[in-house]
Amino acid sequence: MRNQQATRTLFELSKPGLRGCRLPEPDVPAAALHELLPAELLADAPPPLAELAEPDVVRHFTNLSTQNMSVDTHFYPLGSCTMKYNPKRNERVAQLAGLAELHPLQPDTTVQGLLALLYELAAMLAEIAGLPAVSLQPAAGAHGELTSLLVAAAHFRRRGEQRTKVLAPDSAHGTNPASAAMAGFTAVTVQSTPQGFVDLDDLRRKLDGQVAVFMITNPNTLGMFDPQIRVIAEMVHGAGGLIYLDGANMNAILGICRPGDFGADMMHFNCHKTFSGPHGGGGPGAGPIAVSSDLAPYLPVPLIERTAEGYRLVLDRPHSIGRVRSFFGNVGVLIRAWCYLRTHGARGLREVSTQAVLNANYLLSRIQHILPVPQGNRCMHEFVASAARLKAERGVSAMDIAKRLLDYGFHAPTVYFPPIVKEALMIEPTETESKETLDAFADALHQIVQEPPELLHHAPHSTLHSRPDEVQAARHPVTSWHATRPRPASP
Ligand SMILES: *Cc1c(COP(=O)(O)O)cnc(C)c1O
Repeated sequence: MRNQQATRTLFELSKPGLRGCRLPEPDVPAAALHELLPAELLADAPPPLAELAEPDVVRHFTNLSTQNMSVDTHFYPLGSCTMKYNPKRNERVAQLAGLAELHPLQPDTTVQGLLALLYELAAMLAEIAGLPAVSLQPAAGAHGELTSLLVAAAHFRRRGEQRTKVLAPDSAHGTNPASAAMAGFTAVTVQSTPQGFVDLDDLRRKLDGQVAVFMITNPNTLGMFDPQIRVIAEMVHGAGGLIYLDGANMNAILGICRPGDFGADMMHFNCHKTFSGPHGGGGPGAGPIAVSSDLAPYLPVPLIERTAEGYRLVLDRPHSIGRVRSFFGNVGVLIRAWCYLRTHGARGLREVSTQAVLNANYLLSRIQHILPVPQGNRCMHEFVASAARLKAERGVSAMDIAKRLLDYGFHAPTVYFPPIVKEALMIEPTETESKETLDAFADALHQIVQEPPELLHHAPHSTLHSRPDEVQAARHPVTSWHATRPRPASP
């Protein structure tokens, strides 16, 4: 049974006088705050904090944490996000005192172990990418995109070339055009063919001397490897542009093929996806980038260098775009990625990808009889099913199915993405799921599509909240108790 306490806020549970700890009476003369701090630093009144005993607080947060679905509690086939199991071994390594308790301002000479680890991680990522120069600084995939586009901009600026456009297919993740715009480029969309690959005619039409970068996700967001990638790279390079690989789908090709070998000039990794870092809920990620030697001079600082005396941070790089993140990047996530890579080794990583692809194809073969998969009966590590026919025939939407899956104890797949598939359900099982789990998920879908539409429209039925108003939640997020007080009517 769900604990109702979790549904109340700490402020509703608050009782004046309750305390988490009580301090002894001071045995030295007490001084008033205004004698210790300048008046302009003092607030008019203490902050209105909830007053609670320690067990109340612990129970509140522990119970709240059980309201969520997570990789540790449920199958989580969220397409594009690679929600694989996060090995606890990674956590133990990241929590070692010699890593977790370092201070970012310590001198280089006292953090040699960490620098060695990060140096080795960069070398492993370079090898997987097939691109020689790596920056570990970006804090997530989207940040890696932005950083790489700034690198590309610096490259063209130094060459005296005015290139203003960044192309991306219509199947791209929304971060691609957003990063392009943030980096000061105009984002231009390239059409996909009905099979879901880049439409070469449309690419040819849009490719001119103004194009700086073509951003491509390969395998793409339909879970298919675009076999035209070499031709695409030749076309873009022929026009003087660069190829950016959105590496969110690297889980399908680790140790099988390398972006640098199929034409990419730069790419990002999502360590929190491919290399098993925990993610979701807006927690920290890491989006290291790898680039060709031509682009290496523009990478952000600091880089880590190995010298005869040991490892050191390199800051004096005249063509660098500068810093994109404080200190060393999101070190905790990077340590987990290092541990994952070292644990698997080269052969293990290849097995990760072959198993991920096998699992996805098994699930695809079971689900295509329940919901059509418009782009065919083979995939890489994920596939996109469509509820369009179900919607036309019975009024049941992808959202209805996603919500109902929660009642069956499964996290929903990604829905309505990529936008080129109607009523899309994007399913990525990852390599860490068993055949039993995949079968149970397919069985649940099979039952759900036969259930009465009315039941599905109001699902989920077993969660504390059924369907929050998502638009309202995004436009007016209520993030503190104070915000729940009546607000003035908006104009
Ligand atoms: C997740 C994802 C991104 C963005 O990565 P973040 O780490 O979430 O910033 C970009 N492209 C694709 C295809 C993705 O799946």
